[in-house]
Amino acid sequence: MLAITNANLIMLDHMVMDAVLFVEDGKIAGYGELWKTDIPKDCEIFDAGGLYVGPGFVDIHCHASNGIRFQFDPAGSVPNTLRHGTTTLLPTLAYQYSKEVLLDGIRLVREYSKTPEGESVGGIYMEGPYLNAGFGSDKTAMSTLCWNKGVFKEDYQELIDELGDFVRVWAVAPEREGILDFVKDAKKGNPDVRFAVAHSEATPAQIEALMPYGLCIGTHHTNATGTIVKYPECRGVCVDECVNFNSGIYAELICDKVGVHVDPYMLRLIRKIKGDERIILITDASSHPGPKPPGYEGSDDLYFDMEGEIGGTKLTSDQACRNMMKHTGAGFPEAFRMASYNPATAVGFTDRGEIAVGKRADLVLIDDRVNVQGVFLGGRQVK
Ligand SMILES: [Zn+2]
Repeated sequence: MLAITNANLIMLDHMVMDAVLFVEDGKIAGYGELWKTDIPKDCEIFDAGGLYVGPGFVDIHCHASNGIRFQFDPAGSVPNTLRHGTTTLLPTLAYQYSKEVLLDGIRLVREYSKTPEGESVGGIYMEGPYLNAGFGSDKTAMSTLCWNKGVFKEDYQELIDELGDFVRVWAVAPEREGILDFVKDAKKGNPDVRFAVAHSEATPAQIEALMPYGLCIGTHHTNATGTIVKYPECRGVCVDECVNFNSGIYAELICDKVGVHVDPYMLRLIRKIKGDERIILITDASSHPGPKPPGYEGSDDLYFDMEGEIGGTKLTSDQACRNMMKHTGAGFPEAFRMASYNPATAVGFTDRGEIAVGKRADLVLIDDRVNVQGVFLGGRQVK
């Protein structure tokens, strides 16, 4: 058994200060304040030196790391996320690729996930391919793809078959004609799959119609989501309002340093509306070749496409937590809930995401500025 001593544990709704955490067979075996907890003599001791210890981050929406897309080179990109504390990662395949490119990416990521280095890969998040072409970067690339001509079984079934139960999330634009057939077929391919509303200008009714099939996530909430103008000069209701309204839908948030993707005031408003139980911090880390257009001074963690539109971030989950804490005043338990427990729960991982007896010993050791000092994956120290 391993005893991590001299640690401050970040729990779901409190802290355990000056604590010891026991790890056995890759799982959390117990914990307690040092002064009242006996450490068995045969324990291997790891002195955490007063650091904070939280559950490893679960990043469900992330395309790349270090500027390398997972779908092209997982070995060159996934380890960087692990070094930053992401112990469960859903490599995310975006909408701007052809079927052949997507199939190759799925195969490559799945093969990598079976290697010891790929243990943190927990499945795939498909951001598309059936989105609303009006709400995304790379419009030129999108316009030439079969995905934008219509929702056809002869196009999508091969993706569903190749993914099997490796897919955890399909993001869709519910207003696309024929989307319900796709959703039903996707559920046949993996009954546990979740759906997200993404890059969409659906009405609340169109979104809510998919909730019985497992729609429970709002993809990068308030970002690349549409607005509907029904009456001039009156605010319409669309994706953001529906995600805000439904407690059954988690809101993904991209928290960059300056608050470009989501304004800090909006972050605070969403915390108030959704509550800390329904927010998921994502990195949406990506890679795009465009130069930084004027107006983004102070931002060094964003990518832009060739049309000058924001195309994701350079974030890792530790930075996303730090930014959320900075912008909203969230503390460690709240930020870790948003970056670990909530995403794990939303996509159906019941064995991780919190410090609790019997859960996977996926742990991140941080200082008070959320700088990652150590990482344990299934009880094995990997940083
Ligand atoms: Zn997106």
